[in-house]
Amino acid sequence: MIPYMTEPLDIVLPASLLPGDGRFGCGPSKVRKDQIDALSAVSGTYLGTSHRQATVKDVVGEVREGMRQFFSLPEGYEVLLGNGGTTCFWEAATFGLIERKSQHLSFGEFSSKFASSAKAAPFLEDPEVIKAEPGSRPQAVANAEVDLYALTHNETSTGVAMHIARPEGSTGLVAVDATSGAGGLRVDPTEFDCYYFAPQKCFASDGGLWLALCSPAAVERIERIAASERYIPAFLDLKIALDNSRLNQTYNTPALATIFLLNEQLRWMNDQGGLEWAAGRCDRSAEILYSWAEASDFARPFVELEQDRSHVVATIDFDDAIDAAVVAKVLRANGIVDTEPYRKLGRNQLRIAMFPAVDPDDIATLCGAINHVVGALQS
Ligand SMILES: *Cc1c(COP(=O)(O)O)cnc(C)c1O
Repeated sequence: MIPYMTEPLDIVLPASLLPGDGRFGCGPSKVRKDQIDALSAVSGTYLGTSHRQATVKDVVGEVREGMRQFFSLPEGYEVLLGNGGTTCFWEAATFGLIERKSQHLSFGEFSSKFASSAKAAPFLEDPEVIKAEPGSRPQAVANAEVDLYALTHNETSTGVAMHIARPEGSTGLVAVDATSGAGGLRVDPTEFDCYYFAPQKCFASDGGLWLALCSPAAVERIERIAASERYIPAFLDLKIALDNSRLNQTYNTPALATIFLLNEQLRWMNDQGGLEWAAGRCDRSAEILYSWAEASDFARPFVELEQDRSHVVATIDFDDAIDAAVVAKVLRANGIVDTEPYRKLGRNQLRIAMFPAVDPDDIATLCGAINHVVGALQS
């Protein structure tokens, strides 16, 4: 790398290159001001009230109904929720959704973690793990011994997305970690049995909650395992979560602001046209960002295959001559935050969220801002 002539942190972006909102992180991610205003308006009647009473239960009910609508869930699918976020759900699924053996597609930090949980469980057989190099993705293969296929809709650490489909010839459940994909990427619910996520990404809320869209087959599996001899800690018991969810409650106290902000974002997206609208908005952002990178003489998309490139999380590699970490630092000093890459990936790149809350015009402005910073660093 060449030494910089300019002191990087002295670079000041002109007002025309400042996005309307400078938050491009992959979670927690941008929360829209309208959501906060709506929360503020109910601060004296909703916040600080019992989650066992109608005021809060009605909002949980709206979230469950809003999800049914947003994802066009078929008859019989149920919306479950509980505390602890996606990382907690992996443990719950290990206890209560895998019967004997799972298959995991592992292509980055997040997709590898559920596999580790399943491997550590003494009551399960060792999982089958199919790996691919970061920046690409593996293919699920039907295996008669497998009773749960663990897919990841969007690998947030690398910016690789996959089309969700049941492996050909398979009979097991299909469970999808959709934490960063849910709400921004198209999905056909008949292709999954359990589509789970947390609301701090496309749903523009805070972390700490998990939601799971479950098919009748998944509900049947949850009930059967819960009725078996297997020891399941109550906090991770999906049958307890199912029973509470049906009452629009959670097993223990949830964060009320998180549920409210989630519901506001969901309502907004449903009002605008639902999943098709949200995915279209992410497509637009992705088109802007990837075409900029492909036309750039110092940046390029990290993900080689166009069909694998995520439309909700973009990873952009930089030429060795430019230190992406310095670019991210300059952007941060100018109020444009969280463009740093996933730390364990260890690449000279920026990672940019293009969730539905992010305005595609702000993505375009960001591209201009990056050009300006790189130009200033080289002058
Ligand atoms: C963010 C993320 C997680 C972790 O979610 P938590 O709610 O922090 O546990 C898991 N999987 C994917 C794909 C993610 O993007």
